[in-house]
Amino acid sequence: MDHFLYRNGQLYAEDVPLADIAAAVGTPFYCYSAATFTRHYQLFVDALSGMDHLVCYAMKANSNLAILKLLGDQGAGMDVVSGGEYRRARAAGVPGDKIVFSGVGKTADEMRLALTGGIRQFNVESEPEMEALNAVALSLNMVAPIAVRVNPDIDANTHEKIATGRKEDKFGIPISRAREVYAHAATLPGLKIIGIDVHIGSQLVDLAPFEAAYRKLGELTAVLRADGHDITRLDLGGGLGIPYERSNADPPLPSDYGAMVQRVLGDLGCEIEIEPGRLIAGNSGVLVSDVIYVKQGEDRDFLIIDAAMNDLIRPAMYGAYHDIVPLVEPAPGTEKHMYDVVGPVCESGDTFAKRRAMPPLKAGDLVAFRSAGAYGAVMASEYNSRPLIPEVLVSGDQFAVIRARPTFDEMLNRDTIPEWL
Ligand SMILES: *Cc1c(COP(=O)(O)O)cnc(C)c1O
Repeated sequence: MDHFLYRNGQLYAEDVPLADIAAAVGTPFYCYSAATFTRHYQLFVDALSGMDHLVCYAMKANSNLAILKLLGDQGAGMDVVSGGEYRRARAAGVPGDKIVFSGVGKTADEMRLALTGGIRQFNVESEPEMEALNAVALSLNMVAPIAVRVNPDIDANTHEKIATGRKEDKFGIPISRAREVYAHAATLPGLKIIGIDVHIGSQLVDLAPFEAAYRKLGELTAVLRADGHDITRLDLGGGLGIPYERSNADPPLPSDYGAMVQRVLGDLGCEIEIEPGRLIAGNSGVLVSDVIYVKQGEDRDFLIIDAAMNDLIRPAMYGAYHDIVPLVEPAPGTEKHMYDVVGPVCESGDTFAKRRAMPPLKAGDLVAFRSAGAYGAVMASEYNSRPLIPEVLVSGDQFAVIRARPTFDEMLNRDTIPEWL
């Protein structure tokens, strides 16, 4: 459930008409609902309430400081994948002992930043990384708490680019080598083993692959404990999918997920960590855009809008589907028209939807892309010298710009022409 609903024929974000925000900030822009963010976070807290747990928001989904502050104030931890994300989490007031550092390519500088600034745990993905972290920790006279990411070789049956738990994926160490790798870690004095980490992919719409992975994790916990390791924490990653296409079958609810985790892993006496990103942020945001032209083609009409692939890359990159709805609610029974919805960027890939049935639209009408709160603004670029679009946060009847559109001067001033030119 989200808080983007029609009222009196107009699409609202909570208690604010999106058209009012469009008038104030100009299109295109991202708009987030604070109540939706906190509701989704709370669903996970409730789902795991029977177990010692921490919900670490995977902030790569949406890392605006205001969003991090909103979730941090609710008690959320953060899953970070870079030094930049670590700095953002700290700048938003999240304490180091609630920050988990994931990612396959942490540099020594990033390790130093997190160790000196405070960290809950590093999710280590390879033996060379283990050695590097050990060296950094020893050079600082510190001990780094670690979980090793194991790859359970489970095909999560999701999009090729967001599957991470198969043996051909670059993430983690093969589960078959886990005993050997943990034995190695135990010999490194700069590391302290505290748990095991697993993450099999994103946008999973079925609990079965999660359950298969968590069964393997439960077995591995027993084996590693028998080897003498102190396994007190299990980090289960993220990956629960959201319904991008409202007409489709619904993915599992956080409560179903939590019940399964409790059933499979609840008896191990471990603290459970989860790292949801998309399910917290996805349906908490929309992208609002203006129709520039309606162009009649030979066998279809093109809706040319002022948002483009540089603003929301998911359709071009993953073939992703987003519902696109007009801000003015169509009258009941309005006959649908077929459109290709495209942006102004000079690439055929700048296509949001092909042969999409929508109510008839004309130049100047506003549309909203639903489910654009995750992997939207964070993946945006300034390709074609299109400025990054603003982000707006709504809470009740108030709204604020939480990232302003840069001026063209700001954009141009980032470049330098060398003196010798
Ligand atoms: C991306 C990622 C997540 C979040 O995935 P979602 O599908 O957005 O929930 C969690 N943990 C790790 C390690 C990730 O890489």
